[in-house]
Amino acid sequence: MAQLIDGKAISKQIKDELKEQVAELSAKGVKICLAVIQVGNDPASSVYVGNKKKACAYIGIDSLSYELPEETTEEELLELIDKLNKDDAVNGILVQLPVPKHIDEDKIIKAISPLKDVDGFHPMSVGALSIGQPGFVSCTPAGVIQLLKRSGIEIAGKECVVIGRSNIVGKPMAMLLLRENGTVTICHSKTKDLKEVCKRADILVVAIGRPKMIDASYIKEGATVIDVGIHRDENNKLCGDVDFESASKVAGAITPVPGGVGPMTIAMLMHNCVDSINIK
Ligand code: NDP
Repeated sequence: MAQLIDGKAISKQIKDELKEQVAELSAKGVKICLAVIQVGNDPASSVYVGNKKKACAYIGIDSLSYELPEETTEEELLELIDKLNKDDAVNGILVQLPVPKHIDEDKIIKAISPLKDVDGFHPMSVGALSIGQPGFVSCTPAGVIQLLKRSGIEIAGKECVVIGRSNIVGKPMAMLLLRENGTVTICHSKTKDLKEVCKRADILVVAIGRPKMIDASYIKEGATVIDVGIHRDENNKLCGDVDFESASKVAGAITPVPGGVGPMTIAMLMHNCVDSINIK
């Protein structure tokens, strides 16, 4: 049976470390403040926003909450972002995605100052990551690196296969593994012989958005399997992109869903908020 990579415990460890750092900063008179903007009242978004505010409170980060009505115009949202960009008391700005369809998501992402882009989605942040310069890193893939490092799994020199090439998970994931000196392959829906490519992986990161697609037949004996996916199965139980039951019999180490990558995303958002004082 594979070693279980415990995202719940590791995220708690990170949040506790951040809590100490924030207390030390606070003693020196340095405050950290995250502005969270939600447009509309999508129930899933409300849960995510609530969890982010709870994490801020736990760590000692101030949070400013902007709950805007569904009919907020793009211009109004841009005005608010501009105001927060100019506010020296605000270190990080987060617009909960997705925004309603009448608002251009790319425009919103670009409007947030790269110095306050705690989600790491701004093209400047993405560019900085790809040329190895300091900047905010997308939280979910940054969380995966922490899971690997804190579980004692070496990345340097390893065959790393990432399934998925989205801007928020797959692509930054590949860049981060490369930064850690992994040998990286990115797979997507047009990849030929997906199974064969995956079977080369010492570290397989799965971010496809397809429930339980990756079973043992895609996994090399002893490989580390990181499941980014989150879904509800036919019994309304949470599951990932990996068929845990079958994969855990072949993998050397594996993340569960829930309790794997999920809790790491918020922990790394909190890390980015604290790190914002170093991003110049
Ligand atoms: P996207 O839908 O944006 O991307 C999915 C990627 O998977 C695409 O690159 C797509 O290829 C590829 N893909 C789809 N089908 C196949 C296939 N049959 N074979 C090979 N590749 C395929 O998803 P995200 O990256 O946003 O998210 C991925 C998963 O992670 C989702 O389940 C999501 O819910 C979850 N997630 C979890 C988070 C967390 O905090 N734990 C945070 C963010 C996401 P192509 O580009 O060719 O279309």
